Amino acid sequence: MERNPFSRLREWMSTAAGRWAAITLALLAVGAAAAVFFGGSGGEADDIRSGGRRYLYYCRQCKATGEIRLAWDAKFPINCPKCDKREAVIGFRCNKCGRIIEDRRDPVFECPHCQQVYDNRLNPWKAKK
Ligand SMILES: [Zn+2]
Ligand SMILES: [Zn+2]
Repeated sequence: MERNPFSRLREWMSTAAGRWAAITLALLAVGAAAAVFFGGSGGEADDIRSGGRRYLYYCRQCKATGEIRLAWDAKFPINCPKCDKREAVIGFRCNKCGRIIEDRRDPVFECPHCQQVYDNRLNPWKAKK
């Protein structure tokens, strides 16, 4: 009959230790899964590894559009890859016609190709410059 306070404390310690071991193992499993994920396919993981990300751009000078890989801290406008003027601003793909258009900060603007209306008032985080 070892039911004294010390043996109870030891019991508690062992369950707590068991719990910590389980948590540590779970974290290791998550870490391994993440390593497999980032080591596996390309896409965003590739961008993270190469220290940059892909942007869509729109050149206000020559109207060129496309995709470009830039550093994470790239500042727009950037030099247009086509005409080399510093007029290439960040763009996005119009969800109606699929063409790349300037990502404007106006409260409301239209896609110049299909007149799809974009309302930044629905995106307050975009409305401020
Ligand atoms: Zn250009
Ligand atoms: Zn459009």
